[in-house]
Amino acid sequence: MPTAFITGITGQDGSFLAEQLLDAGWSVVGLARRSASRSLWRLAGIRDRITMVDGDLLDMGSMIDPLREYQPDHVYNLGAQSFVATSWRQPLLTGDVTALGAARLLEAVRIACPEARVYQAGSSEMFGLAGDGVQSEATPFHPRSPYGVAKVYAHHLAINYRESHGMFVVGGILFNHESERRSPEFVTRKITMAVAAIKAGKQDKLRLGRVDVRRDWGFAGDYTRAMTAMLEQDQPKDFVIATGKSWSVDDFAKRAFDIAGLKMENHVEHDPALMRPAEIPNLCGDATKAHTELNWQPQLSFDELVTRMTVADLKRAGA
Ligand code: NDP
Ligand code: GDP
Repeated sequence: MPTAFITGITGQDGSFLAEQLLDAGWSVVGLARRSASRSLWRLAGIRDRITMVDGDLLDMGSMIDPLREYQPDHVYNLGAQSFVATSWRQPLLTGDVTALGAARLLEAVRIACPEARVYQAGSSEMFGLAGDGVQSEATPFHPRSPYGVAKVYAHHLAINYRESHGMFVVGGILFNHESERRSPEFVTRKITMAVAAIKAGKQDKLRLGRVDVRRDWGFAGDYTRAMTAMLEQDQPKDFVIATGKSWSVDDFAKRAFDIAGLKMENHVEHDPALMRPAEIPNLCGDATKAHTELNWQPQLSFDELVTRMTVADLKRAGA
């Protein structure tokens, strides 16, 4: 049975990826950091089918040991300080986990299991201030946050390990992807949870920062399929994964309030404290290379994504 090793298994993508790999007959080993209140809610359905090991991207030895022991075929580096807004408040931690954490992981693989194929979780945040057009693998990077900068470092280092050490390392450049398992601080989930709480009579207002910014939002389960497809190519290459359509925060919120039968204008307030020191007004990906070479297509539309998330949160809130 082939084995996959996943950092960040407790996160949104880690949970979808682990489920898909188990369904495809893989054995899954997940690295999770020690915490007094570790939350495994996203893995509830598969907890007894995966092997969890204690470890941290800040501690290379904690990755070398399990990599030596399990000798995985595929390694997915999904672990990160992944929230852009936090990266201004904790820029050094973000650099340590998201940038140098990737370096430690790549070194650990080189030392412990150099034949393993490695996926590095890159982000459209690397494009940052990219203008009004669409972004492809050829678009230059102009990151706008400590998070974006850290991801650029990790992405370039992944390519460097491929070129310097001949390792099979791929860099996915994934645009925003969401689900009912998204952490509550991201704007999509913040909106769907607020809509559900308002509908249930437990909340009245939703405070947002800039609502004119546009993102290319896809469904996380579609995007984790692309990660595996990248590792199954003949040659390691990097790919943009996106839907090719962008929507404003306002569009997302309107749709979510509509689904719940609520009037957005009665509940949404602007909060200047939620504005960012540097913003990315527009991101929209061109995934032509992934369509052509990986035969990858997203299955969920924007409308289906908003509906799925809103309905899930309405159900959770008992609304
Ligand atoms: P999440 O924030 O849901 O998950 C992040 C994971 O990283 C969690 O499992 C977290 O563990 C783990 N982690 C954080 N710090 C450490 C550490 N020091 N050592 C080990 N693990 C750590 O992110 P997503 O699942 O949404 O994203 C997966 C990856 O893809 C991330 O690298 C993210 O930056 C990247 N990405 C995500 C996009 C998106 O739209 N979702 C877009 C592009 C890239 P814990 O549970 O303990 O906090
Ligand atoms: P990001 O694209 O990785 O930063 O994902 P987010 O979901 O955190 O933010 C997407 C966009 O929504 C950014 O341009 C934010 O500035 C904007 N936004 C507006 N209001 C909010 C808010 O209340 N919370 C968050 N997280 N983002 C907001």
